[in-house]
Parts: sequence; structure tokens; C-alpha cells
Amino acid sequence: MNKNLLYRNIPKVDVLLEEKKIQELINIYGREMVVETIREELDSLREYIKECEEEESALVRIDALVANIEKHIIHMNTPDIKSVINGTGTILHTNLGRAPIGLKHMQYVAEIATGYSNLEYNLKEGKRGERYSHFEQLLCKITGAEAAMAVNNNAAAVMLILNTLGKGKEIIVSRGELVEIGGKFRVPDVMEQSGASLVEVGTTNKTHFSDYEQAITEETGALLKVHTSNYRIVGFTETVPIEELVPLGEKYYLPIIEDLGSGVLIDLSKYGLTYEPTVQDSIRHGADIVCFSGDKLLGGAQAGIIVGKKKYIDKMKKNQMTRALRIDKFTATILDVILHEYLSEEKAIRNIPALHMITESLEEVTKRAKSLQRMLRQLDLDAEIVLEKCESQIGGGSLPLERITSMAVTIKPLRITTAELEERMRHLPIPIIPRTMNDKIILDVRTIEQRFFKTITKQLKESNIFEEKA
Ligand SMILES: *Cc1c(COP(=O)(O)O)cnc(C)c1O
Repeated sequence: MNKNLLYRNIPKVDVLLEEKKIQELINIYGREMVVETIREELDSLREYIKECEEEESALVRIDALVANIEKHIIHMNTPDIKSVINGTGTILHTNLGRAPIGLKHMQYVAEIATGYSNLEYNLKEGKRGERYSHFEQLLCKITGAEAAMAVNNNAAAVMLILNTLGKGKEIIVSRGELVEIGGKFRVPDVMEQSGASLVEVGTTNKTHFSDYEQAITEETGALLKVHTSNYRIVGFTETVPIEELVPLGEKYYLPIIEDLGSGVLIDLSKYGLTYEPTVQDSIRHGADIVCFSGDKLLGGAQAGIIVGKKKYIDKMKKNQMTRALRIDKFTATILDVILHEYLSEEKAIRNIPALHMITESLEEVTKRAKSLQRMLRQLDLDAEIVLEKCESQIGGGSLPLERITSMAVTIKPLRITTAELEERMRHLPIPIIPRTMNDKIILDVRTIEQRFFKTITKQLKESNIFEEKA
């Protein structure tokens, strides 16, 4: 093989620049980027030829030069964050972006965010307004609280609350409620950052009313309850419910704070799930301040929502830390839009994707699963495609023990291993993230909307992913 001849077959940069395809790329992406990419591709081609031992494959690679340049540029110009299809059945999957937002809701955000808005402008009075004002009334109406605001996420909410009410003071909290949220973030560590010092009372499994009372001193700033939303302590246990803590707070003039974590606004026990304390209940029981996530059971965007007594919320709004934790216009808009759905429980369940998925009946999921199975079987894939009952989870650190009976399309590949198929599905242009169980791919249809079925079938059909590697 004459390598010098092969090298001479490589087109020069200025010749490539005359190519129609390259001209098109320059028009779209600019000359500088195209030239740079051409250089990189030429380098990698020369490297390839140097190592290559067959003339044939070197020639093929030279022929593919322009196509490779195009691929390279397109790849470079494609955002890395992309849609995936969630076949895991975990509805609030933190790694997959927690609560999906409804398309209609997002369209409203797009309209607002692509132009100017009254985000911080009071149209009635023609002067500066407040970004929380748009949904504060709504939150008060829904939860029964006096005032409300929102910050970047619930961890930020906890920090702001404690900084405002407990800086330089002691905050009393039960040892059974010192939650780690995930990603190694621990609520007690976040709390310490607020400048308040935690006073832990009770034991892991039992905390009594008297434990709280005995810990109260001159230095106490507040009593804190943390809803153990992502785990349960069962068996020989005792906790002091918020309604019993409230009188204690009143007796010593101390605010009662409750971090609800998942913050549900609808009593899910009506839909066959375990009762999860609602924000309304917490307020009704007399909590002074309640905080919760915007993208867990609420089904909205990442946010930390704070509701409660006006005198405390006002102090938080004035806290300088708020400026660093404030929500942006996207979040403010999404909260405004989504909270409106909660004016009617029926509407919320229907229009908020996470709630819809949680409450969707097995019959409905099965209907969809059958339709996906039919579509997949029509493709004649090298796989067994069967329907099987499975169990969905809520996820996002909410209702940890809850399992919702669901229906899965299972795929058992015939010519490759299940692990190989799982990996290949993950590398599709729109990755499909399944669960694997009993050496089968499980696509839990509860978390897959009908509108994604075409994408799934099209990709499985065109990608040859069921074939053995050559
Ligand atoms: C999830 C959770 C948080 C953190 O909420 P983010 O919105 O993820 O910051 C804090 N406290 C509890 C009890 C939680 O469950």
C-alpha cells in the first residue's frame, strides 16, 4: 500500500472550501468554525491513514470526509441536553428532570419569556412591583396561608427561613427528621449554612413532646419539623405531630416551621395512595411557616415555595439573602400558570402531567401499553414483545414506599443480550431509558405518553439495534 499516494488523495482546505456542501455549512455556521472543523477532520483523517492497514478502508474514509465534516459541525452545534423517553416508571425521576411540565403551560412561558412582561411591574399603579405578587394570592387561596413567596428550590427555602428566623439562635429539630435529600446533600448541613445552630432532640426512632420542651432556652429561635418525605421510620416510633407542636410554640412565642419536602396540594389518598400531609393541613394545624418543592408532587418547575404568617414572610422578602435565591421569570411564570390549575382539583389532575401519571388508572395505562405493543410487534424486531404488570414509583423523594400497579411493554432481545440492548437504547438520538428486570427490558408505560410512541418505534426500527455486532 502506497501511503504517500493516499495522503495525496486528501483534498486541500481551499479545494474543500469550494464544495457546495461546505459552502452551505459556512452559510449556516460561519466560515471560522467550518475552517477549524475541516482542519480537525483532516488531522484525524491523516492519523487514520497512518494507522490504517487496508487501502480500501482508507479510501472509504477519504470519500466520507465532507460527510464527516458535516456530522462534526452539526454535533458541535447541537445542545447537549436532550429529551429522553422515561420508561422507568419513576414519575418524579430526579436524574431525568423531575416533574415534566405540560406543553400548554410551557407555551405560555415561551410567550412571556420571549418578550417583555410585568414580572416586576405593577400595571395598576405604574410602578415597581414584586415578582411573587402574581401567584401569592393564589397560593394563599389554595393553602389558606396569609402570605407566600418562592425561591430557587426547597433547599434554598429552608436556608432562607432559618437565616431569617434563626440566625445566631438555636433551632430545635428531631433526630428522626435529619434528612439527606440525595446527591449527598443533607438538610442539617444546609441548615447550618443559614447561621442558625441546630439542636437535635430525641432519638432516631422516637421523639417526645417533652424532648422539644426541655430543649427550649433563651437562645431558641424556632421549632422545626421536617417531613421525612423520602424515607419512613417504621416500627417502634414516635414523632410529635405539627398540631401538638403548635401550642408549644405559642406558649414560648416561637415560630413553628415545617419543611414538607414534596409539598402536595391535593389529598392523594382519595386516589388510592398513602396519605401524604398536604400544605393545607399543615397551615390548618397552625404551622407558622411551611416550605416545599415546586417540582416534586406539585408538578411544576424547580422552586422552593414558602407560605405562612405574613409577619415572617415579610421579613424573608426583606432578607438580603433573598436577592441571591430569587426565582427567575421562567419559574415565576410557570408557578403562576400551574397554580391556576389547582383552583380545581379535577383540572389539576388532568392538566399537570405528574399528577396525571400518578392518578391514571391501570385500565388507561394498559390501553396505551397494548397500543405500543401492537406498534412494536408490527416492526418484526428480533425480540419477544410481551405485556407485563409492573410497579411504578413516585420518585423525587416522595412517598418512598408507594408502588402503583402499572403495565409494561417488555422486550426480550433474541440475538443480543438485554444489557447490550439497554446500552444501545441509551445511545439513540432520543435516548430511551428503560428498567431491566429478569433479563428483559421493561418499558413502564405509565411514564410514556402516547405522543412518544412514534419516536420509539421509528428509532427501534431504523437503528438496527437488535442485530449482532458485525
Ligand atoms: C426534596 C426535599 C428538600 C429539597 O428540595 P429541593 O427542591 O430539591 O431543593 C428539602 N427537604 C425535604 C424534606 C425534601 O424532601
